Amino acid sequence: MINLKKALTVGAATAGLTLAMAGSATANQFITIGTGGVTGVYYPVGGAICRLVNANRADHGIRCSVESTGGSVFNVNTIRAGELDFGVVQSDVQYNAIEGKAQFENNAYGDLRAVFALHPEAFTVVARSDANARTFSDLEGKRVNIGNPGSGQRATLEALLGIQNRTTSIFSQTSDLVAAQMASAMCDNQVDAIIYVVGHPSGAIQEATSTCSSNLVSVTGPAVQELLDTFPYYAPATVPGGMYRGNAEPVETFGVAATLVASTSTSDEAVYQLVKGVFENLEAFRNLHPALSGLTREGMIGAGLSAPFHPGAERYYREVGLMD
Ligand code: GLU
Repeated sequence: MINLKKALTVGAATAGLTLAMAGSATANQFITIGTGGVTGVYYPVGGAICRLVNANRADHGIRCSVESTGGSVFNVNTIRAGELDFGVVQSDVQYNAIEGKAQFENNAYGDLRAVFALHPEAFTVVARSDANARTFSDLEGKRVNIGNPGSGQRATLEALLGIQNRTTSIFSQTSDLVAAQMASAMCDNQVDAIIYVVGHPSGAIQEATSTCSSNLVSVTGPAVQELLDTFPYYAPATVPGGMYRGNAEPVETFGVAATLVASTSTSDEAVYQLVKGVFENLEAFRNLHPALSGLTREGMIGAGLSAPFHPGAERYYREVGLMD
């Protein structure tokens, strides 16, 4: 038997064959999802999405791969530059991008499209035990890793400080290490605390709490309440007790939803097949990472999405009656 899909990849010499195949939807198409650092949750979740998409490759010819990146803002900018098809993005960053706010001030990205919402993410702070920090205000005058430019944690930290008319100058020193380097920097005593907007459990927080003596820091109070009251994409969040070494009690903070986005130039067929692959195997998807365990079909098209839905996603939601 001739392997038609293989033949198609050899290009111009097979033009006749390509024509004959038109409409059969088996032409190879490559899609890439921008995620985050490898010790975060976006990266394995992107891998889980691709795994479900690639399982049906024989039917649709789409090959999905993930890229480790600098996080939410980086992902939006890279989709915009046409170098990524999809990206995982915090709900606050999605809102800022479509509305032209904060890091997208006077630079709205109107072609951004929502695909679905994913897991909840908590604004997570871990401090060395010798820093004696139990609440966010204890970080004043301390050395804090505020995240690389392009990361979601940097964006959310700026929102939290901004609503208090404050800046990162409240810290004695800041560093902008990427997520995968934060935990070792803290345990090497280069910083007192690290900030990560992430789902739980996450490899980076596991590393930070198991490599050296440290504790989770609560992030509550009037400024957080004002964020919750002002912006619909923030929600209270709790890091469960007992999840990380030395942190038996739950820790209160606030958070966002992780969301999957694409752009108007991402193909309808690719978005449709990706959504179908995930929604028709939701049980398997939930089991691929513990942070995904609470996902429901209705929840995934509910909160956290500010950009219009991508038409390929809408097509699937209408087909299965999730949308009118
Ligand atoms: N929320 C982080 C960001 O947007 C990434 C978290 C993760 O990789 O799981 O940069």
